[in-house]
Amino acid sequence: MAEPLLTVRDLSMTYVRRFGLFGRGAQPIRALNEVSFEINAGETLGIVGESGCGKSTLARCLLRLLRPSAGSILFDSMDLLALSDDEMRLMRQRMQILLQNPYSSLNPRMNGFDLVAEPLRAHAAMSRKEMSERVASLLVEVGLTVDFMSRHPHQLSGGQAQRIALARALALNPAFVILDEPTSALDVSVQAQIINLLIRLQRQRGLTYLFITHDLSVIQHISDRVAVMYLGKIVEETSSEEVFRDPQHPYTQALLSSTPTPDPTSDRQRIILPGTVPSAANPPAGCAFHPRCAHVMDRCRRVVPAQRNTKADHRVSCHLYDSAQ
Ligand code: ADP
Ligand code: MG
Repeated sequence: MAEPLLTVRDLSMTYVRRFGLFGRGAQPIRALNEVSFEINAGETLGIVGESGCGKSTLARCLLRLLRPSAGSILFDSMDLLALSDDEMRLMRQRMQILLQNPYSSLNPRMNGFDLVAEPLRAHAAMSRKEMSERVASLLVEVGLTVDFMSRHPHQLSGGQAQRIALARALALNPAFVILDEPTSALDVSVQAQIINLLIRLQRQRGLTYLFITHDLSVIQHISDRVAVMYLGKIVEETSSEEVFRDPQHPYTQALLSSTPTPDPTSDRQRIILPGTVPSAANPPAGCAFHPRCAHVMDRCRRVVPAQRNTKADHRVSCHLYDSAQ
């Protein structure tokens, strides 16, 4: 089988929050806790979890915008954490990110042409004519017209701004795109259009995606595989069909039951998740999910559950499955 495009092993990231006079107090915040996964070329891995579970920290570590505290990241067989800053800058042409709020990533003083041309100017030697042809074709590719060359971000709707951000991200023909809640700030009707556009672009360009969301219903359409995160850890990982057919971790079950299902005959019982995500600065002992879990047992309060394969292609970290191999 082909090598995965991205292989992440035991990635951990601890922030240190300083407090007190002269910042003498230091509180560690474990935002990522030994996260491991792979993504094959041309596939989409969905990462789902509530706000604060470490999704954006993961995205920033993968692009080395943040230095992880431990672990390894192999991209196209290259050890990203061993690259020099210059080598990493070149590598970032092949790894792009689309953020939740497109306006925050678009300079308000630049027009559509400059926004899309900027990465080309920095990295590719092109004549003016080549550049404007390239910008025009990128705009059309993301479903806009050449008229958008003269528009500024404040003249764009949320969906249009996200399309400009996408054209910019695609300008240097990346292989891998991290989508960090790319539709969460958009109207529901626009969300579907952007998801469909992302799916079409993936097919046409052979892109590999890491799709981050707090909303499982979005993931169903775009992901091949799904990893569910809770307080900095992946607690369940399997194919997209399987996670909806047979969710095994009580957290995944709760997330699913709070997601509206398109099937009205579904008799899935609705579980309302009690409480909010505990702080990563002060995580519960044992299984971090235990204070909110409907199936909590004594050992959940003391022992961190090991990750187990309950099926060939289904991994879960939960004491309910301790007797599985
Ligand atoms: P998500 O994207 O899933 O909402 P984040 O990765 O943004 O989660 O945050 C994960 C945890 O790390 C949270 O507890 C958050 O408060 C903390 N955190 C994020 N960024 C910083 C930072 N720069 N300094 C300290 N703590 C941070
Ligand atoms: Mg985030």
